[in-house]
Order: sequence, then C-alpha cells, then structure tokens
Amino acid sequence: MTNATAPITQDVLTLPRKLPDTGRINLVGLTRDQLRDALIAAGTPEKQARMRVGQIWQWVYHWGVREFGAMTNLAKDYRALLDRHFAIERPEVVTRQISADGTRKYLLRIAGGHEVEAVYIPEEGRGTLCISSQVGCTLTCSFCHTGTQKLVRNLTAGEIVGQVMVARDDLGEWPEPGEGSIQDRLVSNIVLMGMGEPLYNFENVRDAMRVVMDGEGIALGRRRITLSTSGVVPEIARTAEEIGCQLAISFHATTDEVRDRLVPINRKWNIATLLAALRDYPRLSNSERITFEYVMLKGVNDSDADARRLVKLIAGIPAKINLIPFNEWPGAPYQRSDWERIEAFADIVYKAGYASPIRTPRGEDIMAACGQLKSATERARKSRAEIAAETGL
Ligand code: SAH
Ligand code: SF4
Repeated sequence: MTNATAPITQDVLTLPRKLPDTGRINLVGLTRDQLRDALIAAGTPEKQARMRVGQIWQWVYHWGVREFGAMTNLAKDYRALLDRHFAIERPEVVTRQISADGTRKYLLRIAGGHEVEAVYIPEEGRGTLCISSQVGCTLTCSFCHTGTQKLVRNLTAGEIVGQVMVARDDLGEWPEPGEGSIQDRLVSNIVLMGMGEPLYNFENVRDAMRVVMDGEGIALGRRRITLSTSGVVPEIARTAEEIGCQLAISFHATTDEVRDRLVPINRKWNIATLLAALRDYPRLSNSERITFEYVMLKGVNDSDADARRLVKLIAGIPAKINLIPFNEWPGAPYQRSDWERIEAFADIVYKAGYASPIRTPRGEDIMAACGQLKSATERARKSRAEIAAETGL
C-alpha cells in the first residue's frame, strides 16, 4: 500500500460488552456508574447499590479475585445472583514469551478470536507495562509493523483494563488478604504504546484509565500513565481534561514533507497544528512536560539540521525528547541510524536544554520492542458487519 492511499480516518468498530457464550456481562472495565446501573438492573436494591459497587470494586481491582464466590463480605445468595448475571473476565493468554533481558510479551485473545499484544518491561526499581488500544491500527506509519496489519478493531475498556490484570496475574502481583497495599510495584507504570492509536478509541481508553487510576483498586496515579499518540489533534485537549495522564507524541520528523511520509496523519493535522495543540497541554492537564518520541531512521530524519530544527520547533514547550533507535521488522523499508549519529543528534538536543534519553531497545529477541508488535490476525480488512458476526455479538 502506498502512503497516498493510507487511511487517516477512523473506521473501526467497538464491540458491546455482552459475552457471547454465556450472555453474562463482564464487569471488568465498567466505570463505577456503569457498574452501579448494571447491579441495579440485575436486581440489587437501589439504596444498597453504592455500597455494593465499592465492595465488588475492591474485590476485583484491589484483590484481583476472579470468582464471586470469593467475595466473602457479600451474602451467599447475592454472590449467586452476581454469578448468574456477571463475569470477571480477562483476555485469554495465548502465549507468553520471556526475553533474555526479562521483558515479557503476552499474546492475548479477545472476543472474536482477535489478538493483541502487551509487553512488560522490568527495570531497576520499577516496571512498565506497554498496552494496546486497538487490534492493529488504521494509521499506516511507514516505519511501524503494527501499521501493516489489516484487521483493525477498537478494544473495549474491559479489554484494555484486562491487559493490566493479566500482567498482574502473571507476575503474582495481587495482595494477599491481610497484607496492606503493595509498595514496590512490579507494574508501576503504564504506557499506551502498544498496538493502535489510543486517541482513535478515546472513550474506551479514558474509561479504562479511570478504572486503573481509581484509588480503591489498581490505583496507579495519572503521572504513572503515559499515552502516546501520532497526533490526533482534536482529542488532545480532551485527553488533558478527561484523563490527565502524561502525553507522548510520535513526532519523528521536523518538516511536513518528511512527516507526511513517516506519519501519514500529518497530512490531516500538520506540524504547526499539532504544536499549537501541544502548547496548551501542560496547563490543561497540570502536568510537567511532554515527551517527544523521535525514531532514528538512517539518512531520513537523523541529520544535525533535523536536530536543530527540532529544538526550534518545540521552543517554549516543556519537553523531553525520547530518541528511539529504529527497531527492524521483516520487510521494513528503513534502517536504524548509526550509534554515533544518534549520539550526535542527542547531543544537539541536550545542549539546547532538553533531556534527550536514547531508548534502549528491550525484548528485541522476542519482537517486543517499540513498533514491532503485530498479531497474526492477518486477514483481509473486514467490514463492521463481518467483524460483528465473527465475534458472535
Ligand atoms: N499509535 C501510538 C502508540 C503506539 S507506537 C503512536 O504512534 O504514538 C509507540 C511508539 O513507537 C511511537 O512513537 C511509534 O512511532 C514508535 N515506533 C513505531 N514503530 C517503530 C519502530 N519500528 N522502531 C521504533 N519505534 C517505533
Ligand atoms: Fe499506528 Fe502508532 Fe504504528 Fe503509527 S506508529 S501505525 S499510529 S501504532
């Protein structure tokens, strides 16, 4: 596919949350209000609903239980009622690969048999979970493996929260009853940098992050969550106001001519339009600085002149520039810049007053590094009706 025909509009389906096989509703990913409504609809007396929401929330998101039978502060017949109407479902783990450097990649199966990947990256004193927001991606950035995947659908909020729960299950990170809350978190940070463009699935991403941030559950604060976008300008202010997390921008080029080729959404919202939206973000979200991601492609965007243009463009925006050595994938049309080139670029950016860390590729041996994710759901692009039929919903 040439870039000239790359889709830059949203054309994906979000699935309703009824589970096809049982007719039970998955509680994972419901907001507190949605949970309350669902409990009332299932027969919970209205005046008890708030308390029940609090109790169930803690069981599901603080203790990580998967069965209503384990919710010992609820009456037996109420547990049975919950069991008839609801489920506590995570995506199914198809494979788990562990890299030589400790990085873990999960291939997860969701409704319809579709697959997404999530990656856990352990670091000194912290651990970052990289999660997906879509199966595939409608955008077709020319250096990104995910962008070559044809089937695309939005994940539900439950499927997004479910990725966090799967990682915590695998790492054994739910507290034991009697324990206080966990201090040294294995999953201490979340980045929305897996498959998909999170701002093309805004409501589900927002609801999922609100569940993850909720203090009575998983309780990861908004400063521990970073959302990466290729630059969906109309949703940037909403991200500040309705999520308030850290923002990362896939910038990658310093002229519209080059960015049009690398990040095709630039043809819709160009560099100047994007930067204007970014200038308001720190104030709106009360956050410190924006991360500019910049993939280093040999001979394409890695010159000294690019580095100088970059710092000029972002002048006045509190920022850090994350340089990402290009991660190769089969058939990729680019090469990684030489190490000396990356360092020279980093140096110019650093001397202009910006932190310019070079991102160490993690999990390359299991194809878990940035931009390498692509599930085998490699079928023809499908219509909404076909996807809906396939998921049985
Ligand atoms: N769709 C979102 C988030 C997912 S990509 C976005 O584009 O921002 C996470 C980061 O990895 C983005 O900055 C993306 O541009 C970058 N990336 C994609 N493919 C890459 C590759 N092959 N090597 C290095 N970085 C890549
Ligand atoms: Fe989609 Fe991000 Fe990959 Fe671009 S870089 S194709 S927006 S996942």
